Amino acid sequence: MRRIAVAGEPVLRQKARGVNRFDPSLASLVRDLVDTMRAAPGIGLAAPQIGVSLRVFVAEISPEDERAVDELDQTGKLYILCNPQIVKAWGEVEGTEGCLSIPGYVGEVKRAEVVLVRGQNLKGKPMRVKVRGLLARVFQHEIDHLDGILFTDRLESLDKLRKLEQPSPPEESVPRPVAAAI
Ligand SMILES: [Zn+2]
Repeated sequence: MRRIAVAGEPVLRQKARGVNRFDPSLASLVRDLVDTMRAAPGIGLAAPQIGVSLRVFVAEISPEDERAVDELDQTGKLYILCNPQIVKAWGEVEGTEGCLSIPGYVGEVKRAEVVLVRGQNLKGKPMRVKVRGLLARVFQHEIDHLDGILFTDRLESLDKLRKLEQPSPPEESVPRPVAAAI
């Protein structure tokens, strides 16, 4: 597990360089990304968030995640994408978003509803994946990280950003936060 960089650290504002060596060091980086994402816990993590300015991200949504209503066939899978690019996007939807690098805040961000993304797997083999709903949001958020963009850059106004409440005592019944920690 690695430390997650927080807003203000330069690595989050750099345009990450492309992956061109699909070697054991890449596999090791991806293992760290997956472990760190799951421990956080989060549903996506990009390499710059653990201090490595390289174009790779991971994403994984649990089948039990009630925020994932549109993409039942895409939950429970671990996605690993190197050099990802959005080929095509459909629709627009506003949704609540958070970021492991901006702890304590969530915001309403407009994203495409469905995206077709191409990239490469860990071995460098070309791949294409079409994702929708929450997973499409995660992919767009992570690809932004590779370009040095944070979700707060995409807010239409600061009214769309809010601070999360402190966790309530366990005896209180409160709705689960709807924010995607990505
Ligand atoms: Zn993020």
